[in-house]
Amino acid sequence: MSITAIKGFNDLLPSESELWQFIEQTARQVFARYGFNEIRVPIVEKTELFCRSIGDTTDIVEKEMYTFTDKGGSSLTLRPEGTASVMRALIENKLYALDSINKLYYMGPMFRHERPQKGRYRQFHQIGAEVTGAADPLIDAQVLLMVSRLFKELGLTEPSLQINSLGCPVCRPAYREALVAFLEERQDALCEDCRRRQTTNPLRALDCKVPGCVEATQGAPAMVEHLCAECDQHFSAVQNYLTAAEVPFSLNPRMVRGLDYYTRTTFELVTGLLGSQSAVAAGGRYDGLVEQLGGPAVPGIGFALGVERVALLLGDRNFDRMPDLFIAVMGDAARTAGFRLMAALQDQGFWVETDCEGKSLKSQMRRADKLKARYSIVLGDTELAAGSGALKRMADGSQQTVALIAEGIAGAITGG
Ligand SMILES: [Zn+2]
Ligand SMILES: [Zn+2]
Repeated sequence: MSITAIKGFNDLLPSESELWQFIEQTARQVFARYGFNEIRVPIVEKTELFCRSIGDTTDIVEKEMYTFTDKGGSSLTLRPEGTASVMRALIENKLYALDSINKLYYMGPMFRHERPQKGRYRQFHQIGAEVTGAADPLIDAQVLLMVSRLFKELGLTEPSLQINSLGCPVCRPAYREALVAFLEERQDALCEDCRRRQTTNPLRALDCKVPGCVEATQGAPAMVEHLCAECDQHFSAVQNYLTAAEVPFSLNPRMVRGLDYYTRTTFELVTGLLGSQSAVAAGGRYDGLVEQLGGPAVPGIGFALGVERVALLLGDRNFDRMPDLFIAVMGDAARTAGFRLMAALQDQGFWVETDCEGKSLKSQMRRADKLKARYSIVLGDTELAAGSGALKRMADGSQQTVALIAEGIAGAITGG
């Protein structure tokens, strides 16, 4: 019996990896322009890190983490998201002391024990970025500008940017009370999850997708109407900067975060193209997080995007690569000469293929077609004796005579 992969854990096959590389390379290029450097953090962390950062009462920590005890008896967890690890690394390596502003990005797998469905897997992949050290609304706007530009560079007109403010420890408690009072009056209409979260995370009722909850929370008090003066100013300034840089956005007063550590500016990039309205990227400000994890009082803001979802949006793009040249050979001498020619052209940066199965000339040409080689050349005793051969452009069958040296062939391939 053959062994299969674990449910929700996927192979990324060569047919898809070109697309993923395009997404990753585009992200690296865009992030570099805004001064971000890559950080690579471990996939496994002490469970405590996520309990303290994400919050004990969130769905992630309560139900979805891959937690296990290792052979030394420590409780470890496969990271369910990236921010906690990046902040742990920032504190542990005192990056905040080396520079007052740190701009970091990461990419890699995350793990949550959710029910697998289209575009949602137990091992999923995120690309994220974090800025620490600045509470200024200009930084919020810059992060939003950067994520918008990333989607533009990817060639996507969707998703669109929605923003909200979640307030701060000064103004959120009063809002929370007002919301809880509102929800209590509508208890019976709420789903089980929303009732359970009413004391721990009542804000989640606002983004619950259950129709009864959507209806029951119509007219619920909105955080933006309860912001303190500082939060209100901060949020207005973010919007002014976005307008100044012509970044399109809309306000979504019902947007909340599943994680406890978010404050003030919060945002999602939302699309209707993947079935129901869903977020392709999400993030926000988390001014208390670094301190909560035992570091100094350093503010921060960041986001993460789901690579699987971005790949779905880009789905029908063609990233097929094709060889520059297929060298078909007849006889042992030609095989060796072809191998030497192939090696020299590969050194010059060309993708060259040749026969490696001892096939007939006809089969070799079929393989050149299958690989969609741009050019082909046949080497036999005649060509070796002449020191030249016929280079064929596969698209139209046109031929030209070339010397059997790498320079000659390289020039013809590049020229044509
Ligand atoms: Zn506030
Ligand atoms: Zn609900």
